[in-house]
Amino acid sequence: MSVLVTGGTGFIGSHTVVELLAKRYNVIILDNLSNSCRETVDRIEQIAGRAPQFVEGDIRDKSLIVNLLQDEPIEAVIHFAGLKAVGESVQKPLEYYKNNVYGTICLLEAMCAGGCKNMVFSSSATVYGSENRPPFNEAMPDGVTTNPYGTTKLTIERILRELYISDKDWSISLLRYFNPIGAHKSGLIGERPSGTPNNLMPYVSQVAAKKLKKLSIFGKDFDTADGTGVRDYIHVVDLAKGHIHALERVLGNSGLDVFNLGTGKGCSVLELVNTFQQVTGQKVPYSFEKRREGDIAECYADTSLAKEVLGWQAELGLEDMCADAWRWESRE
Ligand code: NAD
Ligand code: UDP
Repeated sequence: MSVLVTGGTGFIGSHTVVELLAKRYNVIILDNLSNSCRETVDRIEQIAGRAPQFVEGDIRDKSLIVNLLQDEPIEAVIHFAGLKAVGESVQKPLEYYKNNVYGTICLLEAMCAGGCKNMVFSSSATVYGSENRPPFNEAMPDGVTTNPYGTTKLTIERILRELYISDKDWSISLLRYFNPIGAHKSGLIGERPSGTPNNLMPYVSQVAAKKLKKLSIFGKDFDTADGTGVRDYIHVVDLAKGHIHALERVLGNSGLDVFNLGTGKGCSVLELVNTFQQVTGQKVPYSFEKRREGDIAECYADTSLAKEVLGWQAELGLEDMCADAWRWESRE
């Protein structure tokens, strides 16, 4: 069975392709390499012992996708491709809407033309906004997004819901990721932020590697146990495995579903930094700074739906996430 993976050379996509190959799916990656590199395909092959097909191209190139769908029967699309930097999205909103929203529309039109109506989509916990209270569950009303990136995710979710209402032949899984971190155990694939990282784990790793001087912890006055922000960090390999479960459900004509993919456990910035230092033996100097604009105090998932319906739950802990992130960082 063949699956098209858009954004398959990226951080989450590459780990998912490894899991798909292990499950004997044929994989065709479509990626424009705007935030990843070709070498990842070889590394995926090294891990999986089998190569995915790789097509360098853009999700906005409808005829390319229609041709791909005509060349061989592709049963489903796992759609990771998109721009994901919150700060950059505030500076370049049009690029984000064009790439993420318009890009997804092009992909959906090509899928309609090619007769493939099964999709797993990368959404985000950001759609819960700041009005809902954690643990976030899938039945909560949509939140108010606070940046163009978040709005693109919410908009795509709505497009997919409305598409499904219009045509029940579609089978769609909206996966709301919490905070994916870590890397593959082999140290061959992982997250490759361009420029200075914005997210906590890559920043911590680069401080430990002495590429950056010190970590700024944004806020120590949140209403949390130690005053620092709490997030639901999930190992990227667990997250990748969640996609296989979602794909299997989508292939069974499940209709439209929404699932949180998280661990259900909140972890503070200080807990993460302390665990990283213990597990790796590396020092991570830090100072407390003022809160980052738009940050909420706590964000963690209610994971019961994914457990019940998909039969999936995260297995790896914070120690694994830190050890694997550090192995990847120290190999780069
Ligand atoms: P990533 O940047 O590592 O991977 C995205 C991939 O998509 C890259 O390889 C990039 O080159 C490719 N791409 C971007 N625009 C494209 C286009 N128009 N056509 C073809 N390829 C294109 O990001 P990631 O962390 O792997 O995230 C994957 C998806 O998950 C994204 O949609 C992201 O918004 C979503 N997500 C990520 C996180 C996170 O913390 N990493 C959290 C929630 C949701
Ligand atoms: N954070 C921090 N310093 C950094 C980056 C992040 O203190 O350099 C904090 C941030 O305020 C939040 C947590 O780490 O409480 C996770 O931030 P990240 O950007 O990784 O994820 P998100 O905020 O999108 O959940």
